[in-house]
Amino acid sequence: MITIKEKKFLVVGLGKSGVACARFLKERGGVVTATDGKSIDDLGEDVQKLKDLGIRIEAGGHKIETFLDCDLIVLSPGVPMSIEPIREAKKRGIEVISEIELAYNFIKTPIIAITGSNGKTTTTTLIGQILKRAHKKVFVGGNIGNPLIEYIELGRGAEYVVAEISSFQLEGIRSFRPRVVIMLNISPDHLDRYLSYQDYIAAKARIFLNQREGDFAILNADDSVVSEMMNSFKDVRKVYFSQKKRMNKGIYLDGNSIISEIGKQKHRYSTESLKVRGVHNIDNIMASIAAAEICGCNPGDIQDAVNSFKGLEHRLEFVEEISGVKYYNDSKATNVGAVEKSLESFEQPIILIAGGRDKGTGYETLNELVKERVKKLILIGEAKEIILKSLGSLTQSLKADTLEEAVELAWSQSSHGDVVLLSPACSSYDMFNNYEERGEAFKAIVRKLKSKAYQIG
Ligand code: ADP
Repeated sequence: MITIKEKKFLVVGLGKSGVACARFLKERGGVVTATDGKSIDDLGEDVQKLKDLGIRIEAGGHKIETFLDCDLIVLSPGVPMSIEPIREAKKRGIEVISEIELAYNFIKTPIIAITGSNGKTTTTTLIGQILKRAHKKVFVGGNIGNPLIEYIELGRGAEYVVAEISSFQLEGIRSFRPRVVIMLNISPDHLDRYLSYQDYIAAKARIFLNQREGDFAILNADDSVVSEMMNSFKDVRKVYFSQKKRMNKGIYLDGNSIISEIGKQKHRYSTESLKVRGVHNIDNIMASIAAAEICGCNPGDIQDAVNSFKGLEHRLEFVEEISGVKYYNDSKATNVGAVEKSLESFEQPIILIAGGRDKGTGYETLNELVKERVKKLILIGEAKEIILKSLGSLTQSLKADTLEEAVELAWSQSSHGDVVLLSPACSSYDMFNNYEERGEAFKAIVRKLKSKAYQIG
């Protein structure tokens, strides 16, 4: 248990979760300093409010003395554990935790924690919707919406906390113990922050660290990295989901049905009325059904909620059809694993727009799919040369200077029945503030193109 009163805290990183942590600690009698590399002017209003509460702010850089003069450091997910002042503080025995660890110390409600390389936000949202449909009181947060720490103020009285958890948050846990963990998949990501793929996998696996008998792990049986990682966690009840094979005491796809054999009774769910598309969404749905059944939801409510789930913006989102060509915005596909699933989700020839800021993961895992399904590859952003080198020989590849130019190029190269897919495999920070902005820009360009096409037609 963390005692706060009169203890000295340093909150590192003043994004949404850092601001919430600083306020939380101050309101409970802590002596709080907060620091961020950005200048005070770039940090915005919320940070100004922290000052008014009596929190000391060190903006525009980090002073090592401040890191060494505190009892506990709360590190935001945006700041790497490897920065020098953190390493120095650890050397001196100062504990460094993440926001979810701090929150966990004050949360008594069972937590359903969702992690994996892809599908976290989608699955977290869907579970929240199913539980609500089943009349369970629920708080949905973590990496999406409200930071977990805000549950203590906002979500009191919930029966379940549904939390999206990133690998960065998991680096700083000590006692965090979810009642149910979902591990959706693992594929290379964030290798600009981790020394190796193994380090990234190890960070993800920490989510099971404190699970004990009576807890559940919902796991992707079709993902070899996930299956292998579970060998070291013996105590939890493992519930596997699969699209490829029948899972005893698990959940699996059988034609147009999802069969659950988790509980004493077998349940059959239909996939015929789904509003979401994509093979990966079957994984997300199976994992969500498993979690919902564990929470005691009724199969009728689960089916209703799954049928009405519309998916999320910027994730394989249908935008428009122009002259028989369908345009999809998958701007959130910032790693190769997500792009892989998106490419697998279409029967039609694909014109793929990819590129952005490279994350160091390589693109070779896309080789086969690009060869088989991508009719044309249009490359943008900082990573265009690297991708061209890696995938350029597998299909006809073109470069564009802007997203607008890329979309226009895709349009001019497309024929009736094709799909134009923005699925970048890269982060957006070279050309946009975030993936949402990139997705919005794509949609606006496509819509402009549509009105132009109609004028011409
Ligand atoms: P995350 O929160 O893990 O980034 P999202 O739900 O926001 O996941 O989806 C991110 C990207 O991954 C989107 O391009 C989406 O289409 C794709 N995706 C969603 N679910 C999965 C999955 N289970 N496996 C692989 N890719 C997925």
